[in-house]
Amino acid sequence: MKLIFVSGGVISGLGKGITASSIGRLLESRGLKVSAIKIDPYLNIDAGTMNPFEHGEVYVLDDGGEVDLDLGNYERFMDLHLTRDHNITTGKVYRSVIENERHGDYLGKTVQIIPHITNEIKRRITNVARESGADVVIVELGGTVGDMESMPFLEAARQLGRELGREENVMFIHTTLIPIMGSVGEEKTKPTQHSVKELMSIGIRPDIIVGRCSEPLSESAISKIAMFCDVPEDAVISTPDARSIYEVPLNLEKQGVADYIIDKMKLGPLTTPRDMAQWEDLVSRIVNPKKEVRIALVGKYTALADSYLSHLEAFTHAGAASECKVRIKFIDSDDLTTGDPNEILGDVHGILVPGGFGIRGVEGKIVAAGYARENGIPFLGVCLGFQIATIEFCRNVLGLEKASSTEFDPRTPDPVICIMDEQKGIVDMGATMRLGAQDVFVKEGSMAAELYGSTQISERHRHRYEVNPDYIDRIEAAGWKFTGRSECGTRMEIGELEGHPYYVASQFHPEFKSKPTRPSPLHQGLVDAAIAYMEGRN
Ligand code: GLN
Repeated sequence: MKLIFVSGGVISGLGKGITASSIGRLLESRGLKVSAIKIDPYLNIDAGTMNPFEHGEVYVLDDGGEVDLDLGNYERFMDLHLTRDHNITTGKVYRSVIENERHGDYLGKTVQIIPHITNEIKRRITNVARESGADVVIVELGGTVGDMESMPFLEAARQLGRELGREENVMFIHTTLIPIMGSVGEEKTKPTQHSVKELMSIGIRPDIIVGRCSEPLSESAISKIAMFCDVPEDAVISTPDARSIYEVPLNLEKQGVADYIIDKMKLGPLTTPRDMAQWEDLVSRIVNPKKEVRIALVGKYTALADSYLSHLEAFTHAGAASECKVRIKFIDSDDLTTGDPNEILGDVHGILVPGGFGIRGVEGKIVAAGYARENGIPFLGVCLGFQIATIEFCRNVLGLEKASSTEFDPRTPDPVICIMDEQKGIVDMGATMRLGAQDVFVKEGSMAAELYGSTQISERHRHRYEVNPDYIDRIEAAGWKFTGRSECGTRMEIGELEGHPYYVASQFHPEFKSKPTRPSPLHQGLVDAAIAYMEGRN
């Protein structure tokens, strides 16, 4: 079993997840099988109950796990299919230990952080590593070294290093910030030195230091870090500002970090030659677009772009395929209830209404959906966006003025969106939605079938409400066609508006399975329709 721990120091938000994902990508490009684990030191069992404003989007896995968005980066960069066990939280660890205690597994003993919590952490990491069958597993430690909550995880990592064997089986990569100060542009290594000292005081000596700096590190900064942090100079790597996150693996490759790891961990000799050609092509398409479209993202968490991370990535993937830069115009949906939609949406070539919960911002999203429908603007609605498109259609085409979802208006006379039968009576909020990969049957000849190139697909879900089956016939007769359904046939999954160039919505979340070289078909459809719309108008 070979593990690479990636920790962070100085400040959070250094792109530790991107560094971990990029290193994984590079090891994969040598033919190694790589997997990844994210450790989140918070007490929540999973990310499902957290507000996207605090931690960014809740990412959903095939198995229905509601996890940290870094798992999205791992799946995108390394083309993995992860399970909820790949996200370890303090909540999960403590819950197991307390359940074991109640069960009597530790009879007679005082249950303590060391060894009981740390053993549980080690058990979870090694189980996932073993089950993944990977040659090497990257374990990203959330938070920053020195945080009280990360302590048990760092201690468990230290012990794993001791038990499995340092360097050959367990490596530590520490990512830090190297600020550039003053008019002379001097790189400051002191914060890194302090952070490494802190790590060493826990008993972990890092093998590789990754310095996040706006510029590539100078030779003198590299030798200073190497000397004070006690690592060889070729183990000091820098991650300068990149034009796209997908460029980071290429920047790391130039510095030889993968070869360094392969050598230290004795992962060779490798039989397959390194293959990064497809990735290089991807990056060159992203950074050299031939055209640009503007797509409005109408939501309520628009103050934090990470709330919609997978959508933004899906647009990057779709844009790359069409050699087009997709510029996102974030629109707070509330603005559409007070402002003039022409002024707010008049300059965009496409509109996305993403998922969401609760009543706030709903009316503005309905305005956006109506504006796209009436003006022939390419539109994609996802999850709540699908329900919004359906409500807008019922209100303004079917004339059901008060049509709504029982989520926002329990007493609406026309509950065109209602709670799913199996959700009735559920009281607990954690992990109780309809979650994860479900099959969707797509109507032959529909736009969705053409975009997916298939009539049976599997996409990820996260919802409690659905289109009310009592209204389906009336809605379809008026032109909002449900071209995708779940296996039972009564759960609506995709809607397509007749006679509109691109007005599509899905109950599922296509953004979660979008990959750099296999974009989400529905995002691709929106981007291509936006290009056509722009070119037709210009
Ligand atoms: N709130 C809606 C539901 O629960 C939509 C959920 C979502 O957009 N993820 O069905």
